[in-house]
Amino acid sequence: LVPLKDHDPELFDLIEQEKSRQWRSLELIASENFTSRAVIECLGSALTNKYAEGLPHARYYGGNEVVDQIEELCQKRALQAYGLDPEKWGVNVQPYSGSPANFAVYTGLLKPHDRIMGLDLPSGGHLTHGFYTYSKKENTRKAVSATSVYFESLPYRVHPETGYIDYDQLERDASLFKPAMIVAGFSAYPRDLDYERFRQICDANGALLMMDMAHISGLIAAGELKSPFDLCDVVTTTTHKSLRGPRAGMIFFRKDERGFEGKINQAVFPALQGGPHEHQIAGVATQLKEVLTPEFKVYAQQVKKNAQALANKLTSLGYSMASGGTENHLVLWDLKPQGLTGSKFEKICDAACITLNKNCVPGDRSAVTPGGVRIGAPALTTRKMVEADFEQIAMFLDECAKIALKLQEKSGPKLKDFVALLDGNEEVAALKKKVNDFATSFPMPGF
Ligand code: PLP
Repeated sequence: LVPLKDHDPELFDLIEQEKSRQWRSLELIASENFTSRAVIECLGSALTNKYAEGLPHARYYGGNEVVDQIEELCQKRALQAYGLDPEKWGVNVQPYSGSPANFAVYTGLLKPHDRIMGLDLPSGGHLTHGFYTYSKKENTRKAVSATSVYFESLPYRVHPETGYIDYDQLERDASLFKPAMIVAGFSAYPRDLDYERFRQICDANGALLMMDMAHISGLIAAGELKSPFDLCDVVTTTTHKSLRGPRAGMIFFRKDERGFEGKINQAVFPALQGGPHEHQIAGVATQLKEVLTPEFKVYAQQVKKNAQALANKLTSLGYSMASGGTENHLVLWDLKPQGLTGSKFEKICDAACITLNKNCVPGDRSAVTPGGVRIGAPALTTRKMVEADFEQIAMFLDECAKIALKLQEKSGPKLKDFVALLDGNEEVAALKKKVNDFATSFPMPGF
């Protein structure tokens, strides 16, 4: 019963440092959030000790009478959160995270080398939707994602000018490529999806439609974005982004004569995973209880309002937002008109305690030097920030951009030389102080 502080002061101190970093910084990574005390209690509970291979009431280990109830509670709440009829939809809550959830769907529903079409990584897709790199020198392509190693993947893209998914091109390519599955969903796309169009294209080619709603599952649960469930065959999600739970994954499948239930359950275990992480599953269950409350709906509405406030303010300051704005939780800021790269902007923001990530934006020539950054509202909305606060954040970002331009004049184009100028820079230090004072004036849930 020795607390971590006494058992391992070195590690305890590192965790305290990370807590302090989260508290002092402006967390704008679109895939992150601050989960609740209740979720953290589940993660640190006795459930981490238990092996429970199998499904409730059909386990390979004894002693699962309590764990069975926890997993069933999680399944029940997951279906409730999306208004799903348990006769028509089932859910597997065991995936360790989003990537294993996606791979379990492919493993269960496809054969090796079947064809998959997902949104290209530089267009805002996720690695697990398939990704190759191309070597011009060797004139070859190399599969980066296991989805492209074990299946044949062809990406679809956003239109380089509008920033919207190019559904017409997807339709043309799908009619030639004849995919077995099309994956909808994204990691960096500021718009809602046209599920009708995806469905039409799938039907015309005999393809399954999978939606990976990882980024927006909280907004969908709250009814703030369209539901994919009417038109998709299978829906996956992570639970730690806009849903605000612990790190985990879920797979929702239609229950019909196609037998997805058995195929997906068997793909998760025994094909890909071993014992489920019941402490995570309990954390997801308690988060889903919160998702079902009116307060969570207000939270999701505020996430959207905050992302819009940020996009509008940055636009009014003369900056360019990909697709002209946002209708979800994230903004893609195109820095090319300023002559800055996403990498430099990420570095200067980091130095000022503003956490965001470099990201490709429509029209980028190379994924190696992304032309913009991705900025998300879920985490700071959890810290009770509202539109005026996001306008203030836009002002901080504007300061970052102005300082970055001055530093770039001195450093020249190389990232290394630019970064070297950040350390000890007085303007950056003054901005960091303002950011720290601002951030620490907001509450921090969970700890
Ligand atoms: N799917 C999407 C759309 C994502 O954005 C991510 C992660 O960012 C994942 C899947 C993978 O989730 P994880 O990192 O939990 O494996």
